Amino acid sequence: MKKKFVVTIDGPAGAGKSTVSKALARKLSYIYLDTGALYRAFAYKVIQKGILPDDEKGLAALCSRIEIYLENIDGSLNVFIDGENVTKRIRSEEVGLVASTVSAVSAVRERLLSIQRKAGERGGIVAEGRDMGTVVFPMADYKFYLDAGVEERVRRRCLELLTRGGSADHKTVAGDLVVRDRQDQERKIAPLKASEDAIIVDSTCMSVAEVVEKMISIINSAYGLSHERK
Ligand code: C5P
Repeated sequence: MKKKFVVTIDGPAGAGKSTVSKALARKLSYIYLDTGALYRAFAYKVIQKGILPDDEKGLAALCSRIEIYLENIDGSLNVFIDGENVTKRIRSEEVGLVASTVSAVSAVRERLLSIQRKAGERGGIVAEGRDMGTVVFPMADYKFYLDAGVEERVRRRCLELLTRGGSADHKTVAGDLVVRDRQDQERKIAPLKASEDAIIVDSTCMSVAEVVEKMISIINSAYGLSHERK
């Protein structure tokens, strides 16, 4: 039987991680793990409960009260918090920014760590986030760091928001994205950075298909096997 790998994809907001990770997982017949969705689900609850995102004690208390889990529905992982499927409700910029603030708190990261590791324990997973290669899956078989120029990332994020039926003011989106990246890069615990053994892919001038193709060829060439589903 073919070994089922753990593939990690880290990178800043708007680099195309979700689209690429989803497409790669589909090609490999692997599970796609969107770890940002866990942080977003937690942030959603924080907003709902009226807890301030910098209230560390309140956040730690919430960590011990909530029930959060992933469930595979028709091949994609949905995130549930206290029994509510919030998968679709967590995509706003507001939730993203709160997620970025609360994700700097160690109690929050610890609470979500075991869920992520459990999802990857049998391999066969493409895990996307900020600390996949550095903290959550340090022994991953393939680590990628997906980057793109800031203007292109803002353009992609605007497009994503519009495609979802929301609004996208270029200036606001750019401001939020820069703040979020800085918070993610500068936090003390599990900051956003490329793992030393990660392959860096700059997708500024690449299509999704080209990025996925490049990743597939790296995975295949290292083993001389085709792991792609035909
Ligand atoms: O990837 P996404 O934009 O959904 O992530 C939302 C926020 O969750 C990020 O800005 C980051 O602060 C946090 N996050 C994290 N570690 C991860 C995934 C997401 O800190 N592995």
